[in-house]
Amino acid sequence: MIAKCNQLPLLAESDIVVAGGGPSGFAAALAAARRGYRVLLLEQTGVLGGLATAGVVPMFAPTSDGDRMIYGGIFAEINEEMCRRMHTRVDPHNWQAIHPEILKRLLDEMAEEAGIRILFGIKVCEAEVENDRIQALWVATSMGLKRVEGRQFIDGTGDGLLAMLAGVNFEYGDENGKTMSPTLCAHFANIDYRKNAEAAKNGVTDRSIWFDMLKAGTAPLPEYHFVCMKPISATTANSNLGHIYGGDTLDEEGLTRCYIEGRKIVHTFEKFYREHVPGFENVELISSAALLGVRETRRIDGEYRMTFEDFRRRADFEDEIGRCCYPVDIHSASTDSEEQKKVEQVLEKTSFKHGESYGIPYRAMIPKKRKNLLVPGRALSSDRAIQSSLRVMPPCFVTGQAAGIAAGLAGDGDVRSVNTDELRSILREIGAFFH
Ligand SMILES: Cc1cc2nc3c(=O)[nH]c(=O)nc-3n(C[C@H](O)[C@H](O)[C@H](O)COP(=O)(O)OP(=O)(O)OC[C@H]3O[C@@H](n4cnc5c(N)ncnc54)[C@H](O)[C@@H]3O)c2cc1C
Repeated sequence: MIAKCNQLPLLAESDIVVAGGGPSGFAAALAAARRGYRVLLLEQTGVLGGLATAGVVPMFAPTSDGDRMIYGGIFAEINEEMCRRMHTRVDPHNWQAIHPEILKRLLDEMAEEAGIRILFGIKVCEAEVENDRIQALWVATSMGLKRVEGRQFIDGTGDGLLAMLAGVNFEYGDENGKTMSPTLCAHFANIDYRKNAEAAKNGVTDRSIWFDMLKAGTAPLPEYHFVCMKPISATTANSNLGHIYGGDTLDEEGLTRCYIEGRKIVHTFEKFYREHVPGFENVELISSAALLGVRETRRIDGEYRMTFEDFRRRADFEDEIGRCCYPVDIHSASTDSEEQKKVEQVLEKTSFKHGESYGIPYRAMIPKKRKNLLVPGRALSSDRAIQSSLRVMPPCFVTGQAAGIAAGLAGDGDVRSVNTDELRSILREIGAFFH
């Protein structure tokens, strides 16, 4: 956080400035632009979608509370259109495969149609704060540092980075500062799924083979949390396999190590599949993700801190802007095999029964002490347990769309002045789900 400085050249100015174009930032920008506000979206990579595209995360978490799809609005619209283009059906009860290339272009089209001004290759790196308001951002461009001015700001970086730059307090990881381990996802081709399905009829799957090898001491990695190789088309799949244990993603040295280590892990799994899994004899690793799969970093200090107790009691809030029905999913920070085995047990134990979900209050996106900033997505104000539920993509779109509309309603004022009844009624109009 720095004091006001007018020395840098002005790159752009807008009513609403969104940092980061992942699920939360994209939804925020789209929701606001569709309501006629001037929106500027700053993204460090060259694509929209964040981990869903540049991160090659293979699937959207299930979206149904058992009775109906609960992540209505922008997420539902994107998911339906992506599935139509993938020639697959929308299945709210299961994990929905993401085709990153189809999704990238869909988001480009939606952004263009809504009139969002997007600037790619822009890294937000400082915030000017005066009287508890962000006045401008400093951004790294290919022509050096420049300023971006705005009336309202939305932190869609997933890391709460803009909030941190603006001087907002935050929590980080567990009581020892350890975070869930990251994963580098990847794209594979040349898979014979017919052969793979035949083997599965006899109980032989990638997972069963991997765990047999672990038992026999022949697995290539001591990994006890086997996530998925998800089919994306008739012969391709995207992986969410292995963890970079102990990876520190907010430190440049640590981040660099994660990318290099991640690529080694992906290659190890390619070898495992080719040598051991029926149908994968000719599998080819096409590409590992350009963006590291970071599960957890900062959680901001907000006006309301969501907790596991809210999760447990399936809380309702007067100012809720959407609901979530994903279980607790804290990936292990350590190489301890017992810790790793626990992850899926907790996931199972905390799964929701039919019709259950909990509310997400607007206040969880409002950082303390800042008047023109909202933080949707995985960095909102929460304890670790509920963050591990809220961090999946569908609820990130839900908090994002609410942040975009709220930023517009706030105008030049404090985001606390937003009438949440009005916000909720607009959200309802665009399809948001409430109890
Ligand atoms: C390995 C892995 C597997 C997962 N599996 C699933 C799954 O199966 N299903 C599911 O629903 N969810 C899954 N998740 C969770 C989900 O992908 C993320 O939590 C979610 O994408 C968070 O959304 P976000 O918008 O907050 O952040 P992100 O998706 O991380 O997007 C942040 C965006 O901000 C940009 N950005 C960051 N810093 C800056 C900066 N300084 N300047 C400009 N731009 C910046 C980034 O480039 C990125 O585009 C998984 C996560 C990981 C890591």
